[in-house]
Amino acid sequence: MPESSKEMPSKGKGKGKIAVDMDDVLCQTNGTIVEMHNEIWKTEPPLELADFKNYLYWQNRGWSSPTETVKMVARLFDEGLCHRAQPIPGVKEGLLRLKQMGYSLIIVTARGERERKWTEDWIATHLPDIFDEIHFTGAFAHVYTTAQEKEGHVAKKAVMSHHKRSKADVVHETEALFLIDDSAENALDASRSKTPCQVLLFGDWPWNRIIRDPDDRLPEDVILYVDAKDKGLLDRVESRRQELIERNWIPHGVERVSNWEQVIEWVEDWEKDGCPPLPRQRASL
Ligand SMILES: [Mg+2]
Repeated sequence: MPESSKEMPSKGKGKGKIAVDMDDVLCQTNGTIVEMHNEIWKTEPPLELADFKNYLYWQNRGWSSPTETVKMVARLFDEGLCHRAQPIPGVKEGLLRLKQMGYSLIIVTARGERERKWTEDWIATHLPDIFDEIHFTGAFAHVYTTAQEKEGHVAKKAVMSHHKRSKADVVHETEALFLIDDSAENALDASRSKTPCQVLLFGDWPWNRIIRDPDDRLPEDVILYVDAKDKGLLDRVESRRQELIERNWIPHGVERVSNWEQVIEWVEDWEKDGCPPLPRQRASL
């Protein structure tokens, strides 16, 4: 084993920190949104999880412009989304196993101040006494200027972004070893950032079937669903999607894991290999 890799995992507490996303990694958010969306807006035909073909909801059937979509999501939270969402199968066992192996765990979520209390209550109910830190990046919210770092009841520390931070920024700032996230966009961003980090792209979800190569981007890759429909472009968007699924491009530093069992297998295999430096660590060598 090279000297550097022996030292790497001992940075920080125990073997180091692992950064974990919240929605659709810890809790079944989009599945719950499908149920609630059908109850509230009664879209026909009813929405299915398969309609979530993109991470950004406004690119999917059943949503509207970005501004309207953010309002719709706020309503879902107001009507109990956090309370209703159940844990992802195997999550508690997986997290406890990682702790037992000597890692500390931090949450890095795109949720913001508005969802903070619901989020902390959910963690206290389903996954208490597991996390050391929670970082709310508020990716879809306006910037809050008054939130302060303070002790939380579900983690030793909660950090609210005072300025826009990407998940890659948080992984870098916290010196986490890697990020577990279900978003292909976050995975690409983290792998391509100034301080690239390893990502385990979590779950066989329709919205992460494609990681979009930034050097191969067409207008139909980013079009709003409502605009594509108005312009008669839905078939073109779908055939482009199928083409990219077949191409199956994946950037360096991103690996797919289908479930929590595979997360544990990945970490065990990494340890068996002598913990070779991951992208962020390689960059600092
Ligand atoms: Mg997520």
